[in-house]
Amino acid sequence: MAEHDSEHHGTGTRLVGAGRRAEWTGTADHPGAVVNPPVYRASTHLYPDMAALRAHPANEDGRFYYGRRGAPTQWALAEALTALEPGAEGTVLYPSGVAAIMGALLTVLRPGDVLLMIDNAYEPSRAMGRGLLKDFGVETRWFDASDPAAFQAAICPRTKAVLLESPGSLTIEVCDVPALSAIAKAHGLTVVLDNTWASPLGFPALERGADIAIMSLTKHVGGHSDVMMGSASAGPEWHRKLRVRAQGLGNVVSPDDAALMLRGLRTMGLRLAQEEASALAIAQWLEGRPEVAKVLCPMLPGSPGHDLWKRDFTGGCGLFSFVLKGGTSAARDGLIDALALFGIGFSWGGFESLATPVDPAPIRTASPWPLPGLDEGDRFGVRLSIGLEDTADLIADLERALGVWSAAA
Ligand SMILES: *Cc1c(COP(=O)(O)O)cnc(C)c1O
Repeated sequence: MAEHDSEHHGTGTRLVGAGRRAEWTGTADHPGAVVNPPVYRASTHLYPDMAALRAHPANEDGRFYYGRRGAPTQWALAEALTALEPGAEGTVLYPSGVAAIMGALLTVLRPGDVLLMIDNAYEPSRAMGRGLLKDFGVETRWFDASDPAAFQAAICPRTKAVLLESPGSLTIEVCDVPALSAIAKAHGLTVVLDNTWASPLGFPALERGADIAIMSLTKHVGGHSDVMMGSASAGPEWHRKLRVRAQGLGNVVSPDDAALMLRGLRTMGLRLAQEEASALAIAQWLEGRPEVAKVLCPMLPGSPGHDLWKRDFTGGCGLFSFVLKGGTSAARDGLIDALALFGIGFSWGGFESLATPVDPAPIRTASPWPLPGLDEGDRFGVRLSIGLEDTADLIADLERALGVWSAAA
């Protein structure tokens, strides 16, 4: 079989072929003998003789050296993710999404620098600003991304980087990544984007202005709620620096986990399309319900961020939130407890649906909650991660739980 000519193929074809180099899926006399790269469990890599050990280029991807540099299972995953991210030279793998974000920030920041962080960032990212980055002399300031002029005004001579996330965690606001990136570039800032929600299938981050595109692979790529990992993809300049920093931090991912990620990756396009369609139908249904004050789903026409989503994104996913009309925190907890088909738990992007409460007020410092236009009492939200169950069953489950909520609220 000839090698894939990946650049001219559609997403599904690229998801199937990416990373499956013949030399990683077979032997010298039978290249490409199996479909998937085997799981190479290895700390020690062996050399045929001393001359080979002495001649070996020590710091090159795709060459056996030592376990911490990975082996074909990890290389195939990194190469596949690079193939899916237009503009990327390479991808660095990390043991979790959080490790990827921290690995990128420790690559671009030095003591004395200021980091600007979007106000609706994933809470553990916010915690980095208050914790490790602060301890190491980096100051973090948070900004409301809905106003590019306010972002520009927040930049000072010590500002070196900006961490964006679009859509943001919990409230799912889309920000204008191209506009914010253009301002950042004009001031010499490095743009780090947490692109977990859309993945490169829905948002080609580097083409839209990011310098480093981060994903928690735990979500859509794994897709089955059984494995954790993170990635950072970038063009030549930042990819090389990311690798050096990740190696300095001792980051390595298990080949078994990499194999699970490769398995998930092959069906990611199908899962995302199905979850997006189901989420949109459920969001539309929720919008018509009297118990719901606002649906926060950028794929939904009329929802906040829909115009930017339509302009910049090529796809969505199953994760969105809604805000209840009044009620109490206890009534909202009762609604979540009443759901039979939605698990209660963190994370998202798996094949199974999940529901969690949304309470952004204590963790936001630069943006209002309740949302502008809503009443003071419209503050109890629910985040849904829509999985692969039948949409009608999920709607019936939500209808029953909203009945329980109405009785309690
Ligand atoms: C889950 C998540 C992360 C962290 O990923 P882990 O793999 O759980 O460490 C980062 N960013 C976003 C937006 C997430 O939802």
